Amino acid sequence: MADAKPLYETYNRAPIVFERGHGVWLETDKGERYLDFAAGIAVNSLGHTHPHLVEALKSQADRIWHLSNLHEIPDQTRLAERLTEATFADKVFFTNSGAEALECAIKTARRHFYVNGQPERYRIITVEGAFHGRTLATIAAGGQAKYLEGFGPKVEGFDQVLFGDHEALRQAITDETAAILVEPVQGEGGVRPLPVECMRGLRELCDENGILLILDEVQSGVGRTGKLFAHEFAGIAPDIMAIAKGIGGGFPFGACLATAEAADGMTVGTHGTTYGGNPLAMAVGNAVLDVVLADGFLSHVNDVSLVLRQGLASLKDRYPDLIEEVRGLGLLTGIKCRKSNADLVMALRSERLLAVPAGENVVRLLPPLIVSAEEIRDALHRIEAALEMLSSKAS
Ligand SMILES: *Cc1c(COP(=O)(O)O)cnc(C)c1O
Repeated sequence: MADAKPLYETYNRAPIVFERGHGVWLETDKGERYLDFAAGIAVNSLGHTHPHLVEALKSQADRIWHLSNLHEIPDQTRLAERLTEATFADKVFFTNSGAEALECAIKTARRHFYVNGQPERYRIITVEGAFHGRTLATIAAGGQAKYLEGFGPKVEGFDQVLFGDHEALRQAITDETAAILVEPVQGEGGVRPLPVECMRGLRELCDENGILLILDEVQSGVGRTGKLFAHEFAGIAPDIMAIAKGIGGGFPFGACLATAEAADGMTVGTHGTTYGGNPLAMAVGNAVLDVVLADGFLSHVNDVSLVLRQGLASLKDRYPDLIEEVRGLGLLTGIKCRKSNADLVMALRSERLLAVPAGENVVRLLPPLIVSAEEIRDALHRIEAALEMLSSKAS
């Protein structure tokens, strides 16, 4: 027994223990306060212990925790109604996570062609740098070698093209293609937004070829970008969309949304889940929507993200040796570093600001959407201090 650590060592955890949170702030067991611009990786959309969410969860906990999907769950129907009313979708399937929402999206697309007499159309085209989750199918969809290595044969049926290579995308479509799957803004991949022309081009390409457009808005959805969903910037709609993270505000759940046509193969018995759409999750999801759909909420997100973006732009001007680019949409923000992004995350942590590393040497800033302009300015001071520390170290 050389090693007594009880947990899988799949994570590189920072040695900090947070005991409580309120709004955008977290407090450690030693009473130190941190500004949380990680938000549990874009999950705590309304910050920590939001009173409306706490109330919704507590009052549901006093009534019913769990029912199987063998019964009617009124709050599940209500949340589905609200999601379909607010989006392109006609149908919703609730899951426990983002990866499961993607699994449902992939199954929905394949099944659509199966029931419409084209079972050979099952392949899905994805984009290099994508992240769709850690299940066997979603690591195949994401196509990243570091997540596939050692896990046996890659799940069949995913073809990958380079980010932004429209010609390659066009050529990758065959008689076996069912769908194109993309994130409107790649999160893990380094906060890379797909330009609106590309989003429109994708929609056209799918229509021309009679294939489905699947969007992964697990990270970019539910107000994160300043629109309810990021694809709204392009004025287009997908056929299928996976969401999770922000919709639960910290309660783990996700959903797959689809048009009635795209979901036409998902009939009784074709798919299922024990926990998906559980009453506790649905109570919180409805409470999240109460806040996010309220008048003025998204304009708040836009206002504060402008403050963040302008502040970061001026820091980029002052520290050109450290910051290569500031990018993203709304409060899905990325700082592309010239030196190590891990060093910047560490330096920010020593200024008691939490941030998240991403691909392409990017640091993600993902504050709760309720962050105030004042808290953004506080964060900018901490970022400035961290950059100053790194630049004095370098010289
Ligand atoms: C986080 C994420 C997922 C996976 O969600 P899990 O809840 O971790 O399974 C999928 N796609 C995107 C874009 C994500 O950011």
